[in-house]
Amino acid sequence: MTLPEPRPDLGLREGYLSPQVEVPVRLNTNESPLPPPPEWTEMLVDELHRIQFNRYPDRSASELRAALAAFHGVAPEQVFCANGSNEVIQSLCLAYGGPGRRVAVFEPTYALHSHIAHLTGTAAAEGGRHRDFSLDLDEVARVQAAEDPVLTFLCSPNNPTGLADSPPTVGAVLEGAPGLVVVDEAYGQFAAWSALSLIDDERPLAVIRTFSKTWSMAGARLGYLVGPARVVTALERVALPYHLDSFKQAAGRLALKFAGQMEERVALIVRERQRILAAFASLPLTAWPSQSNFILFRPGRRKGDEVWAGLLDRGVLVRDTSSWPGLAGCLRVTVGTPEENDRFLAALGEVL
Ligand SMILES: *Cc1c(COP(=O)(O)O)cnc(C)c1O
Repeated sequence: MTLPEPRPDLGLREGYLSPQVEVPVRLNTNESPLPPPPEWTEMLVDELHRIQFNRYPDRSASELRAALAAFHGVAPEQVFCANGSNEVIQSLCLAYGGPGRRVAVFEPTYALHSHIAHLTGTAAAEGGRHRDFSLDLDEVARVQAAEDPVLTFLCSPNNPTGLADSPPTVGAVLEGAPGLVVVDEAYGQFAAWSALSLIDDERPLAVIRTFSKTWSMAGARLGYLVGPARVVTALERVALPYHLDSFKQAAGRLALKFAGQMEERVALIVRERQRILAAFASLPLTAWPSQSNFILFRPGRRKGDEVWAGLLDRGVLVRDTSSWPGLAGCLRVTVGTPEENDRFLAALGEVL
């Protein structure tokens, strides 16, 4: 039997994988450490009885989109939903990318922007950032002029560095953009400002959000884009028919009823983040300020991957970013529950 070889260019990059190790304290993928409210689960179970599983789902996800539109004060035609924001990114690349087209990313940033672009046959033009990881507007202008990207990806707050882009920064990127500016706000609820306030049918700007982080629903795989109605129409052309199942549509719609409890979880994480940063001050490491639910840090005396392994020995899994471009020696820790953070800080103190 001879099987065909997969596309040769797939071998060029490793898949985007975070090791899923069974450990007591999992602080490696920026999920919420807390489950969604029990009342949400109860409502969802009720809803389950009403779903007609022999029928295809509502193809346009009209109730979910209407609920999201009301939540953000936009029109339902300006909302596109998908199976996680990664599928939103894929849809953007399928609709706007392809052979001969480029997207722009500014490293270090979320690896999946360039990875998904690559999978869709779209080239990724990679620019750098300032040394403090803030966006370098001269560099953005240089990449935009040299590469003419059809999509310019920003990530705010930026994963894995934690900094958010300011309104003037996003404004300046928009000003010079030859194509669509996409702001990935997977951690948007942790930041003081959102580019959602700039969404307009006449402006080439789209914002991506997800239920995976602040909404405590990573297991549901639901994300969405808010942007000009014409962008949404373009994304609908590349989405598979009925790509969003009935259960997920209900799960997302019901989650929005618990926005207050989501905000409480965000507030707890922010308090814990500040507590971890305060504890870091007396440890031999460099930490970057964060407007998110994770912290990037670089151990001072020991190598990043050794510290990562030492933490794992003590039952704490963080993200080893030490081999990522521009992040030599760095690790990223997700803020967990107070108990998890205590265990992380104790383990880190021992290892260092
Ligand atoms: C976690 C994360 C996502 C989430 O992707 P989903 O597919 O919605 O789970 C998107 N963008 C960034 C920057 C992230 O860190």
